[in-house]
Amino acid sequence: MLFKDVAETLERISLEQSINKKVEIIGDLLRRAAPEEIDVVSRFVIGKPFPEWSGKELNVGWRTVLKAAVNVTGVDSGEIVKLFKRYGDTGSVVEAILEKRKPTLLSPVKPLTVLEVHEILEKIAGISGEGSFQGRVKLVEHMLVRASPIEAKYICRLLLGELRCGFNEGLLEHAIARAFDIDVKKIRKANMLLSDIGYVAKLSKLKPPKIEDVKIEFFRPVRFMLAEQAESIAEAWRYHSGRVAVECKYDGARVQVHKLGDKVKIFSRRMEDITDSLPEVVREIVDIEGEFIVDGEIVCWKNGPMPFQYLVRRLRRKTLSDELLETYPVKLFAFDILKVGGRDLIDEPYISRVKVLEKVLKGAWNVIEIAERKFPSSEEECTEIFENCTKRGFEGVLIKAIDSPYVPGRRERLWFKYKGEIGRHIHEFTLVIIAAEYGHGKRAGLLSDYVFAAWDRNREKLIPVGKAYTGLKDREIAYMTKRLKEIALYESGNRIYVKPKIVVDVAASEIQISPKYPLGYALRFPRIVRIRPDLSLEDVDTVEKIEKAFLRDVKFKSVS
Ligand code: ATP
Repeated sequence: MLFKDVAETLERISLEQSINKKVEIIGDLLRRAAPEEIDVVSRFVIGKPFPEWSGKELNVGWRTVLKAAVNVTGVDSGEIVKLFKRYGDTGSVVEAILEKRKPTLLSPVKPLTVLEVHEILEKIAGISGEGSFQGRVKLVEHMLVRASPIEAKYICRLLLGELRCGFNEGLLEHAIARAFDIDVKKIRKANMLLSDIGYVAKLSKLKPPKIEDVKIEFFRPVRFMLAEQAESIAEAWRYHSGRVAVECKYDGARVQVHKLGDKVKIFSRRMEDITDSLPEVVREIVDIEGEFIVDGEIVCWKNGPMPFQYLVRRLRRKTLSDELLETYPVKLFAFDILKVGGRDLIDEPYISRVKVLEKVLKGAWNVIEIAERKFPSSEEECTEIFENCTKRGFEGVLIKAIDSPYVPGRRERLWFKYKGEIGRHIHEFTLVIIAAEYGHGKRAGLLSDYVFAAWDRNREKLIPVGKAYTGLKDREIAYMTKRLKEIALYESGNRIYVKPKIVVDVAASEIQISPKYPLGYALRFPRIVRIRPDLSLEDVDTVEKIEKAFLRDVKFKSVS
């Protein structure tokens, strides 16, 4: 398939208002794609050239893209500034530049195929170290010299991770279902189990479709099951009529551990392979008999839990010295098991799964422990367990229905989390930074003010919901400044717009009416509680959650 087909299709859906029609157009494209390219095509149409867990990142900024466009066309920088003002988007700027390209350069060139573009993107992702910028520019040039303006527009948007077509993974699941006449629930489930929509599309295309009875595969991470916030212990207890187990809520990073033969891989909540950062866990896992996939939480631990920030510091380091391993020792608290040998366990009830977990992890391990779990017989006992957990430095508790399956990728009421009263008076949201501004005075030269966004209801667009000046320590602001510059999309005055990559927990005591924001309201005095390197865009809240909090505030004020 030619890349032109993909680019033109993306342009069509970006102009199309009807969601149904968008799904139909992409479905057609998928039907036309050959089995060996459908995975690439599928990932391209949602702007994610690689599976999240592949560890591949393009690291291309707008400067790289524009430099390549300038090299290919000879356009001057004054012209670029003008075009930026007009379009405000690098992809459209490059499209406009290429439209002005001299006809000599338009002499017949071999059109780019989807697989060629993919191959070049892989090469770009493989570049590191000295000379990376020039290396990336060269490879982008390779594509641009052979691209038509519309292809260039979408190549650039792919490079920058911003397609702007109003199409997302959820809609792609529908498009695959429609293209190959398969129940969308099966597609969704397969995607949750395999965490790679490209592979899911490929399995759907095969004849007979291999998607029908997909199983969990070792070394492909399964999406994590998530918990719903409980307003009170009573809510969780009553919702499940007391048929619950209560576990400590460890304040660390979620991990999924795969072991097959003597090979071990550990994936983070963002589906990244973080095996190399946890050598002491790997060493113990290798010694455990059997083949399995275990779900748990990694915590920094010295006679008890250490703050989350310690873990962040440790996981951020590329090289692990003995000193670092000693300063920030970790423990793995395993609380669930998804597969043992060839048997998938996710559809079995919680209570059976934990029995299997106990059997698999039997023996005295040093770094690995099974999460503490109790089966209370009354609501009061539930509260006692919670109090005991928080007294010992844990974040709270997880209250889990004992007959619940493991539902990958979903935030269901099958698991409730409860962290105490705080959640009632202070709203906390998981948001993503989309822009940042330079500070003043002591913070001049530092990007210290952050604009963050939540997903719209359909998880298609990010909507700004507030701006924070406070919450981070100087060291964190310095880190943020460096990181934000790396992911910059473009600058406008004092503000830089960035790829939506940095996820943060933001607290606000109130949501207030604010005509300045597209929703008509915004978070008041928001404060960044913590940076969440363990989370990705998928984990960002929708505006619905903020709306609910807003309505709760209104109700509360009208009562008091
Ligand atoms: P939070 O910020 O409250 O940790 P989250 O958005 O990271 O929430 P949720 O699914 O909403 O994730 O809350 C549950 C999280 O708590 C899990 O993702 C996991 O990282 C952590 N956790 C700690 N202990 C447990 C446990 N015993 N069972 C399940 N999850 C646990």
